[in-house]
Amino acid sequence: MNNECLFCGIANGDKSKLFWENEVAAAFKDIHPKTPVHILVVPKQHVLNLDELDNQELAGQLLMAVREVAQKAGIKGGWRLQVNNGRSAGQVVDHLHFHLLGGKELAE
Ligand code: 5GP
Ligand code: ZN
Repeated sequence: MNNECLFCGIANGDKSKLFWENEVAAAFKDIHPKTPVHILVVPKQHVLNLDELDNQELAGQLLMAVREVAQKAGIKGGWRLQVNNGRSAGQVVDHLHFHLLGGKELAE
């Protein structure tokens, strides 16, 4: 945990603000939702982004977390996962996060 990191603070902070959690990951609603369901799934430990994720077990656990959160959010079968990796890709918060998007028609 990095004390100066926003998402470390949320993931390891007030549990009432979390949508879902397990031992290694947490999920909470995006403050500026782009779709009716817009949830961020993050590791509880500080990882900058996917470039820095070298823990294969954690990588798998995070994807399994995303699946569980999609199910809990009621969007199983129709959701999109987005990762903005690095500043030039739009990453603003320097803690790995998966955008789970759904709750409306996403296909073009
Ligand atoms: P990025 O652009 O880094 O991939 O996405 C960061 C996301 O975090 C944005 O969608 C933004 O709305 C969200 N966000 C930023 N600050 C907060 C916050 O304090 N709480 C929550 N729940 N979401 C935040
Ligand atoms: Zn962090």
